[in-house]
Amino acid sequence: MDDIGKSLTKIIKERKWNEEFNQLMKEVMRDPDVVSFIQEHSEMLDNSAIEKSAAKLYEFVNEKKKYQENKENQLAPGYQPNLIMNHHYIDVTYVPTAELVAKQREKSIKNLIHSMDMPKGIREATLDDFQNTSERLQAKMEAMDFIEAYLTAPKKFHRGLYLQGSFGVGKTYLLGAIAHDLAESGFPSTLMHFPSFAVEMKQSIGENTTGEKIEAVKRAPILMLDDIGADSMSSWIRDDVLGVILQYRMQEQLPTFFSSNLDMKQLEEHLTFSQRGEDEPLKAQRIMERVRFLAKEVTMQGVNRRQQQYENN
Ligand code: ADP
Ligand code: MG
Repeated sequence: MDDIGKSLTKIIKERKWNEEFNQLMKEVMRDPDVVSFIQEHSEMLDNSAIEKSAAKLYEFVNEKKKYQENKENQLAPGYQPNLIMNHHYIDVTYVPTAELVAKQREKSIKNLIHSMDMPKGIREATLDDFQNTSERLQAKMEAMDFIEAYLTAPKKFHRGLYLQGSFGVGKTYLLGAIAHDLAESGFPSTLMHFPSFAVEMKQSIGENTTGEKIEAVKRAPILMLDDIGADSMSSWIRDDVLGVILQYRMQEQLPTFFSSNLDMKQLEEHLTFSQRGEDEPLKAQRIMERVRFLAKEVTMQGVNRRQQQYENN
């Protein structure tokens, strides 16, 4: 330590560096990481090597300070500076921090969740942050059962869930959380707000892209159709879009989820009446057969708390 101190003083004296630089370098040479690095590599570092590495040492001390104080103008945000030996000279490398590694992992997880017209932030939903309520508990258990079964045998058929419940009960959130958990294990999902998808499909007729859009959706390894039955559906959307997608998924046994304000019975009724006012119960039944095959109905409508209160009084 003493030796290093002496040789540095010597370097500083011998060179006619200006006062300001001397001051800076003195500070750099006092940095405990710099001191211990030079000590550890003293065999490889002579005075001239240290001198030639001055700019790197200065960069290291400076960036370390910014990193520790969490300043915005860091050279490599999220990376921690680190001293290394590089062909007899000292160099700085930047090592990703645990925080950055976690962030990058989260990003790659999100890249596995393809969402179309879903509320902002739904890709952030996780089962870990899932807040339980009596309405949600059963559905959460079912979701966990699905995930476990799927991860154990991803190639086998697993029935998805048909989450039914009133507005705001947490259906979309749960779909997002399931997608997130699957993505953590590397499995991609496609989450679609069904009414928006239907609008997009109608627009795609003019662009001649209907076929390829249906293809992409029907082949998604895991598909989640959010808010099905929220809008009235034309018979074209019902039979040639939804029907085709579900038929394929049934044949190929691909996991499919739904969420709806309507229960399956109500959805069947909803699908019976097309926009033009035609009554087509058989067509609705065919769709519902596929829905029932693909997904298990789970009600997220717990006890009616208000009513309970009246009864207790
Ligand atoms: P739905 O799709 O049934 O209408 P949402 O999933 O959109 O309801 O949930 C409504 C709100 O409650 C959202 O802001 C969502 O983030 C929040 N939320 C829903 N379920 C949970 C949960 N299990 N834990 C934490 N927040 C939730
Ligand atoms: Mg919703």
